[in-house]
Amino acid sequence: MTAPRLVQNATVLTALCAGALLAVPAPASAEGAIRPLASVAPPPAAASGASGTLDPAAAARAYLDELPPAKKARSDAYFEGGYWLQLWGFLYGSAVLLLLLGTGLSARMRDLSERVRWKAVQPAIYWFLFLGVTTLLGFPLSVYQDWWREHQYDLSNLTFGGWMLEQGKGLLVSAILGGLAVMALYAVTRRVRERWWLWGALVGMVILTFAAAIAPVAIVPLFNSPTRLADPRVVVPVLSLARANGIGAGEVWEIDASKQTTRMSANVSGLLGTERITLNDNLLNRASLPEIESVMAHEMGHYVLNHVYKGLLEFGLVILLGFWGVSLLFERLRVRYEARWRIRDISDPAGLPLVALLFSTFMFLMTPVINTIVRVAEQEADLYGLNSSGQPDGFARVALHLSEYRKMEPGPIEEAFFYDHPSGRTRILAAMRWKAEHPETWAPRSP
Ligand SMILES: [Zn+2]
Repeated sequence: MTAPRLVQNATVLTALCAGALLAVPAPASAEGAIRPLASVAPPPAAASGASGTLDPAAAARAYLDELPPAKKARSDAYFEGGYWLQLWGFLYGSAVLLLLLGTGLSARMRDLSERVRWKAVQPAIYWFLFLGVTTLLGFPLSVYQDWWREHQYDLSNLTFGGWMLEQGKGLLVSAILGGLAVMALYAVTRRVRERWWLWGALVGMVILTFAAAIAPVAIVPLFNSPTRLADPRVVVPVLSLARANGIGAGEVWEIDASKQTTRMSANVSGLLGTERITLNDNLLNRASLPEIESVMAHEMGHYVLNHVYKGLLEFGLVILLGFWGVSLLFERLRVRYEARWRIRDISDPAGLPLVALLFSTFMFLMTPVINTIVRVAEQEADLYGLNSSGQPDGFARVALHLSEYRKMEPGPIEEAFFYDHPSGRTRILAAMRWKAEHPETWAPRSP
């Protein structure tokens, strides 16, 4: 729910570039044998350039029309359901936080944390209690959203037991990282008082940087087994593409994501020396080489264009604005409900649910802005990927695969508000525009 979500904002950064994803049930793997890559499907007639010309809009339409209506309806339902889940998640989380405040439970958890003499540690003790209660109260929604619903749409490979184990690990990470974060934030707040929002945002940035830097080396390995790219099916062309873009072989990784999900994906993660591009095994097992190259080139775009660093700065500004907004309302509400909530001042951990409530409200309202920040970076990576891989048809095919869990053709406002990646239609159109402008890649050569 809201509390772990606050911690998850750290992972939002590294997930910033969660690349092209697709969801096809995994074939049973043949132990030991090297399976060939998926074969290359020819482009639809309107996108082939066989007539000597290529109209980007018609070519994109031809690709989009390859999607069977039943599949399209299913992914639209999954994605649109996600809009409502964002609202329900926000409302449910807010109700939980108000319950903690209104029943005085938050103040009692604070009292309990003060049994530990060492003042610096008290916010961490409070955090453990807070995390425990919010996780427990948020559990039903979490089961529905992250386990049951994923299975309804054939997107998960986890048994319920496996899923629970992952939740437990995630909770442990939230407890440790969140505990350190609240200790730092409350230590600063005790010193600077009403200027807490400014210093708190700076501390928040440092924490996000730290989380993003350790994520690929300390957090991801808790859940999966990343290894340096060794898949012989792609090692030569993918590392060649990497070298051409100034990226070393040691920075390209593969990961056993099929343990959790059927989604095909790749991402760029890490910071301050831990940077890496990771291709997941669903991508390696189910895509053709031009598709893999187009995804890889997209991820290289994130890497070369320093999107993780830029995203960190942009999110830092959003946090600063949010903390400032919280600071404007916190004291007013605290005084008004002092008798019931028993929050002493901003440096009292008992006020954490109020801070979380105000901040998550701000973040909820900022959803279109945050989505747009991420989507713009994704569009840049798309164009970088097309330019460096020269695989517009591979990229169009990958965008089609996305239709398993992303609505392909949203309205313009819908895309601006809810999409943290360009929609399938936008991506395929960009690919076909690129292709139309590069006739040397498809036009019959004159003798
Ligand atoms: Zn991306």
